[in-house]
Amino acid sequence: MNFFAVNIFSVNIDAATQALDNNWALLGYIVAAVLFIFGIKGLARPRTAVRANQFGATGMLIAVVVTLLVTGTVGIEWIAAGMVVGAGIGVLAATRVQMTSMPELVALFNGFGGGASVLVGMASFIETVEHSRDDVQTNASAALAILIGAVTFTGSIIAFAKLRETLHWNGFSGIQILSAVLASIAVTCGALMVAQPDNNVWLWLLVGVAAILGLSAVLPIGGADMPVIIALLNSLSGLAASAAGFVLDNPVLIIAGALVGASGLILTQIMCVGMNRSLPAVLFKPTPAATASGGDEIYEGKVTSTSPEEVAMLLETAERVAIVPGYGLAVAQAQHAVRDLTRRLAGMGVDVVFGIHPVAGRMPGHMNVLLAEAEIDYELLLEMDNINPTFESTDVTIVLGANDVVNPSARNDPSSPIAGMPILDVDSSNVVVVVKRSLSPGFAGIPNPLFAADNTVMLFADGRQAVVDITNSLEA
Ligand code: NDP
Repeated sequence: MNFFAVNIFSVNIDAATQALDNNWALLGYIVAAVLFIFGIKGLARPRTAVRANQFGATGMLIAVVVTLLVTGTVGIEWIAAGMVVGAGIGVLAATRVQMTSMPELVALFNGFGGGASVLVGMASFIETVEHSRDDVQTNASAALAILIGAVTFTGSIIAFAKLRETLHWNGFSGIQILSAVLASIAVTCGALMVAQPDNNVWLWLLVGVAAILGLSAVLPIGGADMPVIIALLNSLSGLAASAAGFVLDNPVLIIAGALVGASGLILTQIMCVGMNRSLPAVLFKPTPAATASGGDEIYEGKVTSTSPEEVAMLLETAERVAIVPGYGLAVAQAQHAVRDLTRRLAGMGVDVVFGIHPVAGRMPGHMNVLLAEAEIDYELLLEMDNINPTFESTDVTIVLGANDVVNPSARNDPSSPIAGMPILDVDSSNVVVVVKRSLSPGFAGIPNPLFAADNTVMLFADGRQAVVDITNSLEA
């Protein structure tokens, strides 16, 4: 009798402790989720972005601590080992990677997110099956996490190589058909994995086919379409994490993954609008590869060079100046020099604005991040639709390390690989000063007729040095 009573009591105590733990855990997760939501909302505005980042990081800390406290399934030594390895890679990456390589790093991190979801899905599936539990919902979530995660993992590796410009694809035209076939096989393997959980072969087939699908889907996408695929992979990494959250029955992972997935999809849509392309067109009708060399010979005898002193003279007589930054601004790390020039011109009574193209640079928001880092007033940054009508009344436009986003072929040449992509209409300003080191093409690999236009002068120099020299040449 006593033994029975003690057992009943201990069961009740255990149940009460468990309930208390669950309530605290749930509360912690809710706080973390609210912080994530405020974080993502705040990231939409540069003014609130730093605070938003802190919200996100605090939310993540709370989520990690709560998870460590409530799950006793993994030994602390494994968690510590994982944290040491992960933190080591993170610190190395953050300190070693140049700012210009940030987009590649972000692509790689998306891939790691996908890879982690694959591992969670596989571990859960194998464990579930070993315990002979036919939990269809968990197995289906595991299949989804593996499918989306593996596509994200290998797709991100290809995106990484393309952003590094170490991979150029001129492969066969039927690759989209191959991708469609692989996608159907992967979905079938996923369904069979859930239907026949005792047979591990479907699991391994799913991992393999989904991994190849990631390669075949991203390989043909290139040129100006890359921003769309970067945003899509970001979204997929979130969806895979969310599926992994269902596998682990972890609400905060479900919410965080869904937030990343949803915001990534919105970003994908913004990038599609920026490129004037639909997502199916990006995925199934990639832009033709550039054929022209875009080298010096195309422009021979047609371009006018200038010097920092001449540009300074132009600026001294200008009333309104527009600066259009591009990837070269990031390479040259010219943002602080640009801030100094902007302040100097403002002090002379010149009206200075910045024209920001949605796909300028190598990652979404690249230019905004760089200019915000130099504390350039956010009010001066105008989006494409707002600045385009004002170029006609602009005296001097300085194109600083931008190329594809100001290429008039997109507007004027229907056979151009970037035909139809909205551009910044810098060529309608009075004088255009293009600052870059040579006549070589931008990311899309095509020549730019802007360089040979009558109202364009070329300042061949490193972006930062050019801006410093122009500022120094302005009258005191
Ligand atoms: P581009 O890649 O078209 O051109 C950049 C230019 O910067 C080059 O022509 C280069 O010319 C010049 N440059 C490089 N280094 C320096 C330097 N140190 N000083 C001065 N100039 C320099 O850049 P845009 O920003 O115009 O266009 C972005 C392109 O990248 C688009 O095609 C877009 O689709 C693609 N993309 C964008 C992503 C995004 O999310 N934003 C992601 C992936 C791709 P030179 O060598 O002669 O100096």
